Amino acid sequence: MQIISPATEEVIAELKETSKDELSKVMESLRKGQRPWGLKPVQERLGCIVRFGELIQENVNEFAEIMTSETGKPLQQSLNEIKGAQNRIEHLRQNAEKWLASETLVDSGSTHEKIVYEPLGVIANISAWNFPYNVGYNVFLYALMAGNSVVYKPSEFASLTGKQFEKYLWQAGIPENVFQCVVGDGSLGQQILEADLDGYFFTGSHATGLHIAKTVAHKLVPVQLELGGKDPLYVMEDVADVEQAAMNAAEGAFYNNGQSCCAVERIYVSDKIYDKFVDAFVKEVKSYKIGNPMDLGTFIGPLTRKQQIQVLREQVADARGKGATLLVGGKEMDGKGYYFEPTVLCDCTHEMEVMKAESFGPIIGIQKVASDEEALQLMADTDYGLTAAVFSNDEQRALRLLSELNVGTAYWNCCDRVSPNVPWSGRKNSGLGSTLSSQGIRAFVQPKSFHLRP
Ligand code: NAD
Repeated sequence: MQIISPATEEVIAELKETSKDELSKVMESLRKGQRPWGLKPVQERLGCIVRFGELIQENVNEFAEIMTSETGKPLQQSLNEIKGAQNRIEHLRQNAEKWLASETLVDSGSTHEKIVYEPLGVIANISAWNFPYNVGYNVFLYALMAGNSVVYKPSEFASLTGKQFEKYLWQAGIPENVFQCVVGDGSLGQQILEADLDGYFFTGSHATGLHIAKTVAHKLVPVQLELGGKDPLYVMEDVADVEQAAMNAAEGAFYNNGQSCCAVERIYVSDKIYDKFVDAFVKEVKSYKIGNPMDLGTFIGPLTRKQQIQVLREQVADARGKGATLLVGGKEMDGKGYYFEPTVLCDCTHEMEVMKAESFGPIIGIQKVASDEEALQLMADTDYGLTAAVFSNDEQRALRLLSELNVGTAYWNCCDRVSPNVPWSGRKNSGLGSTLSSQGIRAFVQPKSFHLRP
C-alpha cells in the first residue's frame, strides 16, 4: 500500500498489506492470547496502558509528524490531538478498576446474587482517519482494559499511525497476541467482517457502518457504530459578544479542515444579529493561515482525501445555483496537494446539499432564522443525530431547544468537543452505542449473573 502525502501528492512510504492468510493467522493468535490476557488482574492490564501513554508522550513529536505526513492535519493540531487523547488514559487510570469490579446485589438470605463483567473475547476495531488517536483510543484502549484482544484496522489514510500504536502497545507490555494492527483498505475490512469475532466496533461513514451492521447481523455479536453527522449550531440574538461567538463558531466549523465528526456543519443565526455575525465570521475565516501542514503556524492544511474535493465543489455549485451567496473561498487551490479554500456560504436554505449532507471539509452554510421555533425545526431537519449546539446568554432558553433534539451530545456555548467523562454516542444515522465514560467500558464486557446458595 502506497502512503501518499495529501500536501505534496508524493509517495512517502509503502506498507505491506495484510493478506487473507495472514489475517486468519492473526485471528488464531488473538483467540489464543485473549484468555490469559482477560484473566490478568485489572491493575496489570492498566499498567500496560499507562505505560503506553507514557511512551506516546515521550515520542509525541515523532508521532505528530507521522500523522501530519499521512493525513495532512496541521502539525499543531496533531500535537493537540495526541496530547488531548491522553485524557482517556488518565480517566481509565482513575476509574477502570471500579467499572470492571463485580457487583454483589444480594449477600444475605438463602440465595446470593452478583454480576461479573466478562470480556467479549476477540473484537474488531475498524477505524477512521480523521482523529486516529481520539477515535482509536476510545475503542482499543477500553477494549484492552476490559480484557479483550483486538484486531485493529486503521483507515488506509492513517495506517502509519496505526502501526505506531501496535509498536508502542507491544513495547508497553501488551502481548503481540492481544493487539494486532492489520493493514489494508475496505476489502480487508470486508474480510474482517467474515472472520470469527465477538464484537465489531466501527468508526467511519454511515454507508460503511450500515453495511457492517447488516453483514454481521447474523452473528448476534455486539456491533457499535460511531458515524457521521450534520451538526447544527444556533446563535441566538442575546449572545454576550457576537464577534466572539463568530470566532468560536468558525473554529468549530474549520478545525481539522472541517473533517471532524462533530464539526459544526451548518449555522443558524438570529435575524437580529445576522449581518454582524456573518461579517465577523468571514473576517475570522479570512485570517486563517493556509499552507504546509508541517508548519506549526498553519491552521488549514490539505484535505486528507482527494475525492472529497469533488463533494465540496458540488456543494458550492448546488448552493449557489439555489440562491446562496458565496462570501469567501469556493474552489480548490492551484498547485500540488488536496487544498480547498475555506468556504463560507450565506443565505442558505434546506433546499441545498450544504445544509443537508455531511460536507466533511472546510465549507459552511449559514442561514438566517426569525425565531427559536424556526431554528429548532431546521436543526431537527436531518437524518443524523450526533451533536447540536446553541450559543446564548440564556441557559434555560438554550436547554429547552437542546432537550428537544434527538442527538447524543448537546452543547451550550461550546461545540466540537469530546470528553472522556461523558458518553460519546450518535443517534439515527450517526450511530449506535456509546464510547467513553463508564458506558464506554461496559460496551466491551458482557455481564454474567451469579445466583449462589452458600
Ligand atoms: P469510511 O466509512 O470510508 O471508512 C472507515 C473504515 O471502514 C476504514 O478503515 C475503511 O477501510 C473501512 N471499510 C471500508 N469499506 C469497508 C467494508 N466493506 N467492510 C469493512 N470495513 C470497511 O469512513 P472514513 O472516511 O474513514 O471516516 C469519515 C467518516 O467517519 C465521517 O462520516 C465521519 O463523520 C465519521 N466519524 C465519526 C466519528 C464518531 O465518533 N461518530 C469519529 C470520526 C469519524
